[in-house]
Amino acid sequence: MKEQYFEKKLESPGRIDLEKDTLKETLSRIDTPIVEIHDFPEEGKWDFKKESFELSLSCDEAEFIPAMQRYRMDTLNKNELAKQWRTLKSYKFRSGEDKLDTTEILPDGWKVIFRPSSGYLGGAGTDDETKTILVDQDITKPVAILQLSHEAGHAQIMESMTDEERNFVLDTRKEFKEAGREQQEIEGDKIDRVIKDERDAWAFALRTIKPLIKSGILSLNDVRNFIHDIALKSYSNDVRSLIEKDLIKTKNNK
Ligand SMILES: [Zn+2]
Repeated sequence: MKEQYFEKKLESPGRIDLEKDTLKETLSRIDTPIVEIHDFPEEGKWDFKKESFELSLSCDEAEFIPAMQRYRMDTLNKNELAKQWRTLKSYKFRSGEDKLDTTEILPDGWKVIFRPSSGYLGGAGTDDETKTILVDQDITKPVAILQLSHEAGHAQIMESMTDEERNFVLDTRKEFKEAGREQQEIEGDKIDRVIKDERDAWAFALRTIKPLIKSGILSLNDVRNFIHDIALKSYSNDVRSLIEKDLIKTKNNK
């Protein structure tokens, strides 16, 4: 049965309940900036130090890329939209022996842009054409660091593939979104692939942020709540809905 086959790979059933107390607390913690940078200027460099904790960050203006238009139904023109985004030049954390340099987790040729003015729980994604990770968040929020690490995982996975495999994955992701939106059939193998990539990218993120968990900047519990109750759950719910509508094709239709 399709339900049983996918069940092992999905999160527990149920909607994403942002009102659930444990999740609400997690969200308020991960949505609160670690350091305060007022009116995030278009370019700048900041260093923060508190006891053994150090954070350094620098950013620059961002150039317009069409992927910026993905997040909102923006009516802004290209220049106005690009002005909302910043290029992350460097972003480093250090607490005693625990260190994280976010430029080191990116594959060669990739960069990160972010939008500090974005509100509560913005999105994130990769643009493979321009090799850009877009974090639609104030980058000083813990949730932004989580999303950045997850998207870096996707970028690393992409870069480790052959061109053929990469095109297959990009097409598959597109097809998965369309299947839900347009109520189209999709092959079970492709669903497997989407779930696997999501899990692998989160596994990469978890390894990446280990120093931040060790130094207490992020709590493992909050990270798990975010990954399982929001991020992976949203994929799981999309897959469940395809199963319910009988839109997943399998070879012998089991
Ligand atoms: Zn993902």
